[in-house]
Amino acid sequence: ENQLNEVISGDISSHGIIVQGGLFNTLMRRLSNLHLADAFGNSRIPILVLNVTHPLVPEQIQEFCLARESVLVMEEGNPEFIEQQIGQILRRADIQTRLHGKDVLPLAGEYSAEVVTKGLVEFLSQNEPDGVNVEILRDEAANLANIKLSAQGSLDESLPPRPPGFCTGCPERPVFSAIKLLKEEIGDIHIAADIGCHAFGTFEPFSMGNSILGYGMSLASAAGVRQIQKKRTISIMGDGGFWHNGLQTGVLSTLFNEGDAILIIMQNGYASATGQQYIPSSVKLDNQKPISIDIEKTLNALGVKWLKTIRTYSVDVMVKTLREAMTTSFDGLKVIIADGECMLARQRRLKTDNRRKIKAGLKVVTPRFGVDDEICTGDHSCIRLSGCPSLTIKPSPDPLRTDPVAHVINSCVGCGLCGEIAHAAVLCPSFYKAERIQNPGQIEKVIHRIRQTIIGLMTNEKSIV
Ligand code: SF4
Ligand code: SF4
Repeated sequence: ENQLNEVISGDISSHGIIVQGGLFNTLMRRLSNLHLADAFGNSRIPILVLNVTHPLVPEQIQEFCLARESVLVMEEGNPEFIEQQIGQILRRADIQTRLHGKDVLPLAGEYSAEVVTKGLVEFLSQNEPDGVNVEILRDEAANLANIKLSAQGSLDESLPPRPPGFCTGCPERPVFSAIKLLKEEIGDIHIAADIGCHAFGTFEPFSMGNSILGYGMSLASAAGVRQIQKKRTISIMGDGGFWHNGLQTGVLSTLFNEGDAILIIMQNGYASATGQQYIPSSVKLDNQKPISIDIEKTLNALGVKWLKTIRTYSVDVMVKTLREAMTTSFDGLKVIIADGECMLARQRRLKTDNRRKIKAGLKVVTPRFGVDDEICTGDHSCIRLSGCPSLTIKPSPDPLRTDPVAHVINSCVGCGLCGEIAHAAVLCPSFYKAERIQNPGQIEKVIHRIRQTIIGLMTNEKSIV
C-alpha cells in the first residue's frame, strides 16, 4: 500500500528475482556486469525488492510470481525463512512457479559479488530463459573472476584487511579511546558490547567486546558473567538499544536485582547504524515534531543513583569518570551517558546550514586539526588510540627520520578527538587546531594581515640567513 517494496519490470518476464533490500545493490552490480542491467536501476530480469522482509505481502508475492516460470529468492542467512514463506504463499494460491534459492546459492555466509554471480549464472543456466545466452553468460562470469585473480596477481603481497569502522569524527570513538587508556592503567575488563555503530568498537584498533547478544541486551548479558569477574563489567549500549530493550531487560532488572555494574549509554540522538531514524530521545529538529524524552530524567525517575552525563570528546573526563565507576564503593548500577550527536547526521545538517550562511554573507568557522610534521616522532600512538580514518601517515620531511609521520587529511571534521587524546594520554604536542573562516569579519581580516606580515618578515629573515 505504501510502496515500501519495489518492483522493477524487465523484458525477460518469464523469470524473476525476489531479493532482500540489503542485497539489491550487489545484485544490480552483478546483473550489470553480466549485461542484464544498466547502471541506472533498469534490469532485464524483473525484480521484486523486499525492502520490508517481514511480514511478506501474499498478494504482492502472488502477483509477482503468477505469470513466471521460475523465480530466484536471494536471501542471506540460514534457515531460508523468506524462501519457505514464499513457497507456502504460492502453494496456498496454487501457483506453480518454480522456486529457486538455496539450491543455487550457499546456505550460509556472506552473499558477496562473486557468490551472487555464481547463483545468478546457475539459476539462469537451469532455466534458460529466452533472450539469455547461457554460454556467453558463463564466459562473462569467468571473465569477472579472472579480473579479480589477475588484480590479485599483480600485487606483491596481499592487501591488509579493511574492517568496517566508525565514521570520521564519530562521537562514539572517543569512549573507546578512553576505555583503552583505562585498560592500560587497570588491566583487562569484561566489556559487553551491543548492536549499533558502537559494535565497530569490537574491531581494531579497539578490539573491545567479550560478548554481543542483541539490540539493547548488553547490560542483561553482563549479568550472566558478573559473578565470576574480578572487576566490574562495562556494558555499552546505544540510545536506540536503550529504548528498544535495554531500559527494561538491562536497567530495570539490574536495579531490581541490585546488580553492581557499569553501563555506558551512547547518546548520539538517532538509531544511527540503520540511517539516523528518530528515537524517543531525538532532539527537536526543524520541521519535526518534538518527541524528546530525556534519558537522564528517565533514569533519575527509575531511581538510578550513580549517573553522570559526559561529553564524549572529553577523553580525560571520560577516563576519570570510568576510573571512578570502576573503583567507587557505591555498590549498584552506575550509568555514564556519553553525549555527542552522530557526526554523520551533524555534518549533513551543518552542510546545509553553512551553505545557507555563506550565501547570505555570514561568517562560517570550520575547525580543522593538523599534525606538525617537524614535531611528530612517528610513533603513531595517536592512530592506535583513535583509529580515525582521517588520521593517516605520510613520509617524514626530515631525511634523518625513516618512520612516516602522522598526517590529518582533508576529510577531518575537526571533532578534536586526536587533540583530546594527545592531552589525555599526554601523548605529544604535535597536534594543532586551525580554523578555516569563510566570509571573515573586519577583525579577522586585520589579524590575518598582521600574521601574514610577521610570517613574511620571518621567512625573509630565514632566507637571508
Ligand atoms: S553513523 Fe553516526 S554514530 Fe554511527 S559511526 Fe557514523 S558518526 Fe558514529
Ligand atoms: S579532529 Fe582528529 S579525530 Fe577528529 S576527525 Fe579530525 S583527524 Fe579525526
